[in-house]
Amino acid sequence: MHCPLCFLGQRQGRNFGLGEMPFATVRAAIGNALKEGLREVIPSTMGEPLLYSHFSELLELCMVSGVPVNLTTNGSFPGTWGTELGMRSLLRACSDIKVSCMGFSEESFSEMMPGGNFSRWKSNVERLVSLARTERSASGAQPVSTISLQVTLHKKFAPDAGAVHSILHWAQSIGIDRIKWNPAVFLSSAPDELVRQYALEPGEIQALKSQLVQFAKSSKVRCEGSLFFEPSLAAQEPCGEDSIPCPFDDELWVLPDGSVQHCPNPERRYGNPASPAARCSQCLMRCAPRSKF
Ligand code: SF4
Repeated sequence: MHCPLCFLGQRQGRNFGLGEMPFATVRAAIGNALKEGLREVIPSTMGEPLLYSHFSELLELCMVSGVPVNLTTNGSFPGTWGTELGMRSLLRACSDIKVSCMGFSEESFSEMMPGGNFSRWKSNVERLVSLARTERSASGAQPVSTISLQVTLHKKFAPDAGAVHSILHWAQSIGIDRIKWNPAVFLSSAPDELVRQYALEPGEIQALKSQLVQFAKSSKVRCEGSLFFEPSLAAQEPCGEDSIPCPFDDELWVLPDGSVQHCPNPERRYGNPASPAARCSQCLMRCAPRSKF
């Protein structure tokens, strides 16, 4: 899709290009992690996970292993995943399905997710939530996935409190469980023009946080996300490599070649590992709550 805020695009011509993970690597990684008490699998691709050619095998393996999938999708639900059968199998295999949202109008949606279609995206989310409701009433003790929106806030979107309020209102009306509000993140290598166009000023982030705290008081939708992290805590409390455990210290990130990383800070993975933003002492992610899903 070439979404402008994607970390891969922010690398300015440097390829990541690790290719698709062979399913044998998936199977081995899950097998090893099960011995260590694996609690969930997060298929994270810097692309659309539902396009992974072995995704149905992954779901089946997780179901058989009794491990839920924690899915983040762009909401396009390609191929069979957009059918009722496909959505129902996702709802049964996942603990949470987060659908990304980077704009809430035809215009902003197609700018931020080129090739996407806002009306289709909305209708997919509405169908998914409706199916989750019927699955819950039919499934008895079987768990059914919660549905979240993962909203990326940026200059062309966030200052418009009307759009933010519209999302919250729509989410509540259709029965979304939670919204994660995350200000857009930029690598140190991001083009200046991209940052100028889309990065929020600290004052704008603060104003939005205050508005959302007010909106959320009267909303049934749980509001979370990095918008609510307190950067001042990062400066005060050492963690990760500085000694106190990082909130992500119980996660393993397996790359397509089977190698493993422990730290999800995008500056380390995609940007410049030597830059200040790659240090634990500067990392906003250390303010994430330890209980995540
Ligand atoms: S850089 Fe951030 S996410 Fe990575 S280990 Fe340090 S605190 Fe954790």
